[in-house]
Amino acid sequence: MRYIGTRNKELTATASQAILQGICPDGGLYIPEEIPKLPLSLEALSKMRYQELAFTILKEYLDFTDEELKMCVESAYDEKFDTKEIAPVVKKGDVLFLELFHGRTLAFKDMALSILPYLMKTAAKRCGVKEKIIILTATSGDTGKAALEGFANVEGTGIMVFFPENGVSPVQKLQMTTQEGDNTAVVGILGNFDDAQSAVKSIFTDADMAKELQEKGYRFSSANSINIGRLVPQIVYYIHGYLQAVKQGVIQMGEKLDVTVPTGNFGNILAGWYAKQMGLPLGKLVCASNENKVLYDFLRTGVYDKNRPFYVTVSPSMDILISSNLERLLCHLDSQEATKERMAALSKNGIYRMEEEKKDFYGEYASKEETFAAIREVFSKDGYVMDTHTAVAYAAAAKYRKETGSKVPMLIVSTASPYKFTKDVMTALDSAYEKEDPFRLMEELEKKSGVPIPAPIRSLEQKEVRHKKVCEKDQIKDCVRQWLLK
Ligand SMILES: *Cc1c(COP(=O)(O)O)cnc(C)c1O
Repeated sequence: MRYIGTRNKELTATASQAILQGICPDGGLYIPEEIPKLPLSLEALSKMRYQELAFTILKEYLDFTDEELKMCVESAYDEKFDTKEIAPVVKKGDVLFLELFHGRTLAFKDMALSILPYLMKTAAKRCGVKEKIIILTATSGDTGKAALEGFANVEGTGIMVFFPENGVSPVQKLQMTTQEGDNTAVVGILGNFDDAQSAVKSIFTDADMAKELQEKGYRFSSANSINIGRLVPQIVYYIHGYLQAVKQGVIQMGEKLDVTVPTGNFGNILAGWYAKQMGLPLGKLVCASNENKVLYDFLRTGVYDKNRPFYVTVSPSMDILISSNLERLLCHLDSQEATKERMAALSKNGIYRMEEEKKDFYGEYASKEETFAAIREVFSKDGYVMDTHTAVAYAAAAKYRKETGSKVPMLIVSTASPYKFTKDVMTALDSAYEKEDPFRLMEELEKKSGVPIPAPIRSLEQKEVRHKKVCEKDQIKDCVRQWLLK
């Protein structure tokens, strides 16, 4: 399996090289030259534990030995998850929820970031890399904490995270600023996620800075979903989700299952598309956006236009106007030459077109009112409390079914625990909660939902804040220098 660049197919890499580099030298992303087919029948896959399934699928994408890969998978998907199933599927009303928030940081980012540090260390060993690997990460809230947990105190690595100072939930912020580990740094930036992501991407492609750091014994990599090592582990849970839907009798083996994914950087949903390309019988992939509905407009009109107001919403992990992973889809559906032109247009004028049909996808979005109404509806019907991101997906799925009349069973990809966004979740249930302290509201949520407060955040409020630095968005590069050369 070779990887090639989205802007130049001559830029090739092994999986290990692609994972280490994070991004192509020309700013493009690595994609598999050919998407592999499922190596075994669905029946055979359905007999596997999550870890075995992950091993079987990842083997198709990575250049690791069986022993190396086994170590990665077994170390990642262990008691860090609060359930043996790793990613349970629960049926509520007429939909299924694929719960991806049972890892340490309570968001789906744990699914990939629990394994990425192992993938990266193995890749470094295979490539004979001696430098210390510095992970630079831009976060809209959840990637940051999941990456910090993954890389904290991992020998031979350091991690620096940039998050929008005024664009994450109180729990998300405290989760990051209380992070322990001598090799960690966390910085709030006076800007939004797109500002942080652009700055970090430009550092990765800055040859002078790379040289300067190499002399000091460092090299950069990325824990963002631009890294193929993030994307590939996410394919696994779509297959697992499908097989669970069969086991629960919602579909027969081989029948179609639609999926709705709350989307920001287009990484999660793209992994679903890869699963479908591998031969998993998925129907539509409904791409659910919040008010930052640049993807909805793109899927409906063929025009991607980021020139629009940026909204801070109740689903902050989806507050993104430059969905990086869309570049991968564009390249799979068209050519490197065309993708290069589109990305140049995006960076110059903030706009590009692609009129060709994207038949596997369906764009939807939900407003704050629709999101809150969805939380209330599911709670009153089924006693099940969704987080705000999952609720965007739920509302989008309902709109999709209404518009198309589809009767295909629906899997909602559930990306966060409601405890991560307690304030907005509780306000959705009753506006009287709006003025209350988000940490006290956790106890209220526990009473209402009957789901115990997850251990990783129970004592969060008492933890010491260790990271207080805030910087302007154009100072990110200086921040990195200061930290590494201190
Ligand atoms: C990151 C995140 C998303 C968006 O996922 P993408 O892969 O960026 O599209 C949705 N919900 C939650 C809770 C997240 O943390």
